[in-house]
Amino acid sequence: MLNSKLKNPDLVFVVQQDEQAANTIRFLAALQHCANFVPSDMITIDQFSFAGEKALIRVDFNVPMDAGFNITDDSRMKAAIPTINKILNEGGAVILMSHLGRPKEGPTDKYSLKHIVNHLSALLGRPVQFADDCIGETAVQKSVALAAGEVLLLENLRFYKQEEKGDREFAQKLASLGTFYVNDAFGTAHRAHASTAIMAEFFPGKRAFGYVMAREVENADKVMRAPQRPFTAIVGGAKVSDKILIVENLLNVADHILIGGGMAYTFFKAMGGVIGNSLCEDERLSTCLDIMAKAKEKGVKIHLPMDSTIADKFAGDATSINCESNGIPTGWMGLDIGDKACYDFREVLLKSKTILWNGPMGVFEMEKFEKGTRTVAEAVAEATRNGAFSLIGGGDSAAAVHKFGFDSQVSYVSTGGGALLEYFEGKTLPGIAAVLGQPLA
Ligand code: ATP
Repeated sequence: MLNSKLKNPDLVFVVQQDEQAANTIRFLAALQHCANFVPSDMITIDQFSFAGEKALIRVDFNVPMDAGFNITDDSRMKAAIPTINKILNEGGAVILMSHLGRPKEGPTDKYSLKHIVNHLSALLGRPVQFADDCIGETAVQKSVALAAGEVLLLENLRFYKQEEKGDREFAQKLASLGTFYVNDAFGTAHRAHASTAIMAEFFPGKRAFGYVMAREVENADKVMRAPQRPFTAIVGGAKVSDKILIVENLLNVADHILIGGGMAYTFFKAMGGVIGNSLCEDERLSTCLDIMAKAKEKGVKIHLPMDSTIADKFAGDATSINCESNGIPTGWMGLDIGDKACYDFREVLLKSKTILWNGPMGVFEMEKFEKGTRTVAEAVAEATRNGAFSLIGGGDSAAAVHKFGFDSQVSYVSTGGGALLEYFEGKTLPGIAAVLGQPLA
């Protein structure tokens, strides 16, 4: 009855099928899916000694900063410290390469990595030199003069358009600065940029993954290769189009999929619901129906939020009330999952043994609409305490878990948003393929 207006009990799509047949289908699909994965026996820095080497490390220091250039979340920097220290402690020198933001017009003070030098130096407990250009004379001179145990940070790679274009000549210039290539930037591993995917070819036999990269892949594999069941995936956030492939792929491995956030309303509209001014991607309505149909076929239970907290405007001081998610009046928009949905989602999560979470349940940045995301974060933490493995998929979900203070109560918080999603889509990430010497897709 997908086209008729839905009544409450219909909103949780418990698909009943012959359980055995459904499990067989799911098992075969999961096997098929796993065949796409890069082997997790990765080449890591632990397999090398760095005495006398000048290691070029691609890190992800794309950290958020306030207007006064204070770093508001340094977790990506902290994550890279063990990789840097291992190389320095063995008598190597380190040259760090990163991007920061999305500079459009070449060098821009706002996007300069000089703003992070002092903080990096404090984290490492040693001085950090800075080259105000990532290639060219200064970079060459400073890298030539770099002694064992010293650290040099290069200016933002994206000040050159060649970086994002994956330009080979630019990659070669970067490569000429060091003797060993380390990729520790999982957050950009899905991009075929010069520093993430092209540089590796100049270091045959002298390239490896850093600890961040190794840990990310190891944890992602725990979820996608051999999850303990029941496996529940929580997908939220704003854009259906960004997440649709991961939802489709999750149908091959998950037992339950909880859909929240702005994404949910496209599903409700697709099924004939009325969603007022809530977020909706009309061009994805049929995709939502396809997903529902596939879920039914595969025996996966898709749960949508039965109710929502709706608001009369997109603002922290909006008037808000609770409402059924498929009957939102014109002029109102769903900005969070409601109380019933919080209860339902929590119930599913507490029974889960593996949990993957990507995307918030509502506009958690505003206090009035944070309850759904907070409740899910609490439930994920509780399930983890009870023995579940929980992986938080970067981006806004990581920010939410951090905001509510649950970082240390979940199994793993990924540093990569898009990269993790693409990994789960079954794609070989260019940053991984390059170090393994595999052809780029
Ligand atoms: P990233 O892409 O950085 O990894 P994400 O995948 O966690 O983040 P996004 O799809 O980017 O999530 O969406 C996150 C945004 O969605 C948040 O800023 C949040 O405020 C917004 N959001 C969540 N629910 C709603 C809603 N019902 N209406 C409008 N916006 C929403």
